[in-house]
Amino acid sequence: MIGRVAFLSMHTSPLDLPGSGDAGGMNVYIDELAASLAGRGIDVTVFTRRADPAIRRLVETPAGYRVAHVDAGPARRLPVSALMEWVGDFAAEITHAIEGGWSASPTDVVHSHYWLSGWAGIIVKQATGLPLANSFHTLGRVKDATRRPGQPPEPLLRIAAESEVIARSDCVIAATEYESIELIDHYGADPSRLCVNPPGIDLDLFGPGDAGAARRRLGLDDAPTVLFVGRIQALKGLDVAVEALGILRDRLAGVRMLVVGGPSGPTGDFERLMIEDKVGRLGMEDSVSWWGVQPHRRLPDFYRAADVLVVPSRSESFGLVAAEAQATGLPVAAANVGGLRYVVEDGVSGVLVDGWDPADYSKALLRVLESPTLREHLAAGALRSGRRYGWTTATDRLLQLYGGIADGAR
Ligand code: UDP
Repeated sequence: MIGRVAFLSMHTSPLDLPGSGDAGGMNVYIDELAASLAGRGIDVTVFTRRADPAIRRLVETPAGYRVAHVDAGPARRLPVSALMEWVGDFAAEITHAIEGGWSASPTDVVHSHYWLSGWAGIIVKQATGLPLANSFHTLGRVKDATRRPGQPPEPLLRIAAESEVIARSDCVIAATEYESIELIDHYGADPSRLCVNPPGIDLDLFGPGDAGAARRRLGLDDAPTVLFVGRIQALKGLDVAVEALGILRDRLAGVRMLVVGGPSGPTGDFERLMIEDKVGRLGMEDSVSWWGVQPHRRLPDFYRAADVLVVPSRSESFGLVAAEAQATGLPVAAANVGGLRYVVEDGVSGVLVDGWDPADYSKALLRVLESPTLREHLAAGALRSGRRYGWTTATDRLLQLYGGIADGAR
């Protein structure tokens, strides 16, 4: 029986607003998974690094889990590259909290997220003997394999840390079968210690709704609408989407794109400026509107108001936005890469596009936008496909997995 779980999320907190900076799908995943476990009566603490001197050490969330802010390095936002030197302190504080009997019941499992916390996780595991599960969310070597020409490679320390975490965790949780294959191919992971468990999405929030009402709430008319939702950085391929729209405009009068999300990572601001410059050079200021970061709860309106979601990511371990869009009945045109190959059912819930040639995205978008019959067919498929991601199944499987590694450690 699992009673108490410690999540490690050093570089970002589930209390952060997703959609820019270091906050994205992982934050949404941790928040919803912790809430789902808490709903089963499990005591979940998410340990994150204190990045704000004013925040309380322990925050009880309305969802029923708590966030513990750990002092490790200066109490301000730091880029991931600056956090490496504080991993040891972060792990030592957590070990102290776990061993210091901060609660009457013992911790059963440590579940770390991302390579930095995975690294902290193996230190905590060594010190406490607790079983460790790790979810990477993204993998350095996989990002490197498809990075845009001119982008810097991932730091070697990240790759080395990932290899250590894979070798020393009791279990690595992959979001899809594709990620588990990547773990084996790129890192030589032992298949017997891999487990596939796709994340859930909030199916109460993301469901079908009235497109007209959503457009009215957003102040939009009924022009053909492409939607992009994601952190703005090279990985997400917004540059490809903008160029595709440039080609599409000549074929479909009045088509526009809504961009939801904000700059992320060390080159995020530069990426946004570069894309704004591209929009200006292509004379597309009237066709592209920037909506910035939107509260998660507001996203259903965007998915319902749009005709198609474009996801030209260069790499994606899952692609929550594609799953959320589908669950609201929005077809998706996505790169045929990583988890998107699993989330988007080609010809059923959307269209998969090979490579990152804007002309190919433009063709795919045009097919969906100009044919109401195809759009209806894909919208119905998207709704069916999106319903696959309830938290009930994801939580059941995770509890089985926690039980297995906890039994192995006893
Ligand atoms: N998101 C949000 N507001 C925004 C932009 C994104 O709430 O303005 C959420 C989005 O709904 C999704 C997550 O951020 O749940 C992004 O997850 P995804 O897996 O698509 O990308 P990641 O950020 O993990 O690379």
